[in-house]
Amino acid sequence: MNLLSSLDKVKGIGPRTGEQFALAGINTVGELIDFLPRAYDDFSHVSKITEVAPGKVTVKARCEKISTRPVRRGLRITTATLADDSGKLQAVWFNQPYRETQLKKGEEFYFSGEFEFSYNRYQLTNPSAELVKDLPVQTGRILPVYRSIKGLKIPLVRKILAELRPLITMLPETLPAEIVRDEKLISRSDAVLKMHFPENATDVELARERLAFEELFQLLLASQLNRQENAKLTGWHIPFEQPVVANFVKQLPFELTSAQRIAAWEIIQDLERKTPMNRLLQGDVGSGKTVVAGLVACQVAHAGFQTAIMAPTEILASQHAETLNRLLQPFNIKVGLLTGSVKGKPRKTLSEQISSGEVDVVVGTHALIQDSVNFKKLGFVVIDEQHRFGVSQRLQLLKKSEFMPHMLAMTATPIPRSLALTVYGELDISVLNELPKGRKPIQTKIWSPNSRAQLYKEIDAEIESGRQVYVICSLIEENVDNEIKSVQAEHKKLQNSIFKHRRIGLLHGKLKPSDKDAVMQEFVAGKFDILVSTTVVEVGVDVPNATVIVIEDADRFGLSQLHQLRGRVGRSVFQSYCYLVTSSSSKPSQRLRAVEKSNDGFYLAEVDLKLRGPGEIYGRAQHGALNLQIATLADSKLIARAQKQAKRFVEQGINLLQYKQLGATVQYYQRLTTLN
Ligand code: ADP
Ligand code: MG
Repeated sequence: MNLLSSLDKVKGIGPRTGEQFALAGINTVGELIDFLPRAYDDFSHVSKITEVAPGKVTVKARCEKISTRPVRRGLRITTATLADDSGKLQAVWFNQPYRETQLKKGEEFYFSGEFEFSYNRYQLTNPSAELVKDLPVQTGRILPVYRSIKGLKIPLVRKILAELRPLITMLPETLPAEIVRDEKLISRSDAVLKMHFPENATDVELARERLAFEELFQLLLASQLNRQENAKLTGWHIPFEQPVVANFVKQLPFELTSAQRIAAWEIIQDLERKTPMNRLLQGDVGSGKTVVAGLVACQVAHAGFQTAIMAPTEILASQHAETLNRLLQPFNIKVGLLTGSVKGKPRKTLSEQISSGEVDVVVGTHALIQDSVNFKKLGFVVIDEQHRFGVSQRLQLLKKSEFMPHMLAMTATPIPRSLALTVYGELDISVLNELPKGRKPIQTKIWSPNSRAQLYKEIDAEIESGRQVYVICSLIEENVDNEIKSVQAEHKKLQNSIFKHRRIGLLHGKLKPSDKDAVMQEFVAGKFDILVSTTVVEVGVDVPNATVIVIEDADRFGLSQLHQLRGRVGRSVFQSYCYLVTSSSSKPSQRLRAVEKSNDGFYLAEVDLKLRGPGEIYGRAQHGALNLQIATLADSKLIARAQKQAKRFVEQGINLLQYKQLGATVQYYQRLTTLN
């Protein structure tokens, strides 16, 4: 039997069990060994029931009485009386009615869970239950808990893994020996052994450290290698011309912030180098990224190269095109807009102008990456709201040049440092950590739905003083149980009653692109007082006169999304407000309170990362690599260690191919995270 053997070679796995494993994606012995516990139950300290104190506890007890009752729709509570020689206590489970059949009277179990005060009494909440006689005697009292696989009980999984013990002790080392030594890590086989069969808590810690280090090292090595490869490419040389930049800055209606100056300078220096730029411009919503891109595009056009700017929505693309046209026209730089709704003759003309080089700056949506779009001399590519695009879409755009163009990715979703280092390790980063002068911080407030009358009064006062308002709802269609506000229903409601005297627009993703644009243009032109919209306004749109954003059912949105939406206001010298209306009057979530408390996108991104994990936030397709098994990106110390070793590995020019398994994983990560 070896790692590639099929599961039927393992003692204890018959055809049925094998099938269940296969359904969970486990087909070989090696995959089964890699099926690591998701948690541990600690049975090393068993308390007598009379001695139980609040906190995490384990008792060895029998179940005397157990019953389940429905409390409300979607909630069934199972309560049991547990007894040992010393006394009794109550245990409670939420939506686990199977406990009734599991906990046979008279059998002894270990119950492990939180002993806490809830529902007016102290009780053991959602404890795990392990049949005492099922516990393998040879192992310690710390038991691995595996992700549940349909049809397979955890004790069986444990028993099967125990069969593989000899094989695990022979697992080959995957990290270079010097790194294992320098970092004082335990060997791979030891780590996997300790994960499955820990003797005590220290075992688990050592094993996790080793395996987490390995994951991070692979990820960081991949980005270091990508960086190295990028440095070998030849790019366009675009010389810095001071007068061009100075003139551009002079005609701006405002003064650049120093953060904008620094970022622009960093970019311009990159363009002078022989290697293509690979840079991320991070700036909180409203920090003024567009004008930085415009300034660089001006320099690029002056040197005779074209710029392509790709934005995720038509609204945004057309707004950028307009802004840039205003900024660049005085310099005789021609800006074109290419989106899905540019069709027929105009499209043909534009395509020709792009391939002849007549248009210097092309702003567009995904339409830009189509095969029919050919540039004459593409020198600079800007990807706005880069997290909205997949790797392949960015690559397709970059390929439209003879040499690798300089690339600037822009994002308003600030990326926590740990993440920037691990996943965007191959990028240079510029940060706009400063808002333009005169902006007042947006005031954010959570509203419960029963104070709506007051809320509408405040909104009306804002409109009276000439400002405009966004109302954001989460769904398009009218909803039967009317629990979720749909834009259409909301629009009707506001227009027919409270805001009869106001002009209200309606915007959602199912409108034709041209209609969407028309609505948005009218809002920009001040023809609506209120715009009722779905999250299509989420990214990038700029209406400085809008000072209030009301987000209905705010608890349904993610934290970063709320922050993005809030960024639609606060774009002028007027005081702006963000009102988060909860869907019920119950206590607002941690998420909402974080948004209420802080306007700092970087801080909120850290909170979001902790609450939801990177996979959820940054998208699975783009960052599959982020679905780390063991490492957490909050572990900045371990990340720093892995980073140091990855750098050293690359600097010493060690050949990755001598480490077979490491090489394969790293190459996989390289493809997954590459931006060049
Ligand atoms: P974002 O970084 O969110 O993409 P934008 O580029 O849309 O921000 O800019 C937001 C608004 O701020 C725009 O109306 C823009 O004209 C304005 N702006 C940009 N830079 C400055 C500045 N230095 N001073 C004043 N206003 C600025
Ligand atoms: Mg923007």
